[in-house]
Amino acid sequence: MLKKSITSLINDAENNLNEIFNNIDKQCLKNSEKIINAFHEYNVSESDLYGTSGYGYNDFGREKIESIYSRIFGSEDALVRCQLVSGSHAISISLQALLRQNDTLLTISGKPYNTLHEVIGIKQNDSSLINYGINYKCIDLINNDFDYDKIKKELKSNIKVIHIQRSRGYSQRESININSLKKVVQFIKNISPKTIIFVDNCYCELVEDVSPIEVGCDLCAGSLIKNLGGGITPNGGYICGRKDLISLCAQRLYIPGEGKHVGATNNFNYLALQGLFMSPNAVKNSLKINTLTSYVLNKLNIKVSPKYNEIKSDIVLAIYLNSENEMIKYAECIQNSGAINSFVSPIPESMPGYNNKIIMASPSFIQGSSIELSCDGEIKEPYILFLQGSLTYEYGKLALINILKKLFE
Ligand SMILES: *Cc1c(COP(=O)(O)O)cnc(C)c1O
Repeated sequence: MLKKSITSLINDAENNLNEIFNNIDKQCLKNSEKIINAFHEYNVSESDLYGTSGYGYNDFGREKIESIYSRIFGSEDALVRCQLVSGSHAISISLQALLRQNDTLLTISGKPYNTLHEVIGIKQNDSSLINYGINYKCIDLINNDFDYDKIKKELKSNIKVIHIQRSRGYSQRESININSLKKVVQFIKNISPKTIIFVDNCYCELVEDVSPIEVGCDLCAGSLIKNLGGGITPNGGYICGRKDLISLCAQRLYIPGEGKHVGATNNFNYLALQGLFMSPNAVKNSLKINTLTSYVLNKLNIKVSPKYNEIKSDIVLAIYLNSENEMIKYAECIQNSGAINSFVSPIPESMPGYNNKIIMASPSFIQGSSIELSCDGEIKEPYILFLQGSLTYEYGKLALINILKKLFE
């Protein structure tokens, strides 16, 4: 039950969040400047908006997009493609491109994101890395930080690739910020300079203004229906990093011998460029809705992570609810607050790549887009719902008001 009216609860929150919101605005300005400068540097022109068909040779728009991504990430090269189905696909292609028979993959941020279990072979699949003769080892985080002792021990044997996942996925840990990443990368490179450091960068793009590549990682990947798509790019994924490694990824994704030179874009270039242009703003609004929700729910004694005043490195908010029923009701409110399919009720369902049933609300223009206001979670104790996205502050705020009315009044 609410002691205060919803209006005064939200007004209080906004007054108290003034300074934090100002900092989010400043971050958005910095990232916007970085992006517009990259557009200018590569003279993006109207003709770049229109893509190629067929094989997709000589796609100048596509080449400029990849130059712009390289500029923004501070990387030698990039692969930004609509043929990458999603973030999971970009990560899967990266690992398959880098690892060969008898090589070892070591993950140092705990068990990777659910959809990668069959990619690696943590869950049996005939096409997994393990099935192709690749070794897999995993080190858990301790107290939300890397386990340096164990990493040092493992690096005594030959480790081809280290995988680090920054955002928390469906786990209870905190996300990994750029400073912690920088520290562990220096540690690894000191011991084993040849080990390739790969980063799952999903949900972290443009939250801070330094990229994983700029702190010494070799390759990072993510989804275009999250932060960098700005709610506009209809599908795709990106991989940024070392030129030789990007080439391996392109050969794996397409055809050995043709690599980056193929891959028609059709209408993708226009939407990839406009999405990137809009992305700092989408990330800004997502961060504000994350912060506002975190503040208000905390006032109502609901456990949230991160707290409103904790430094963020991704756009995700973990909300600890009391039951399956509360998860469903919360998701229903998010669904009913959106623009598309607002009239349907989300129900928990089994999904490929996940062990438990998943509840998901995504009342979005782009299917499954999670830079648009959305939430999802595995139906299991302790009943955590992960909330993310919001293309505008106002729509996100209206959704929060709807939740407070339906769940707490
Ligand atoms: C979203 C996400 C992915 C990839 O998910 P897709 O739905 O395939 O884009 C991978 N890792 C993390 C941590 C994520 O949050």
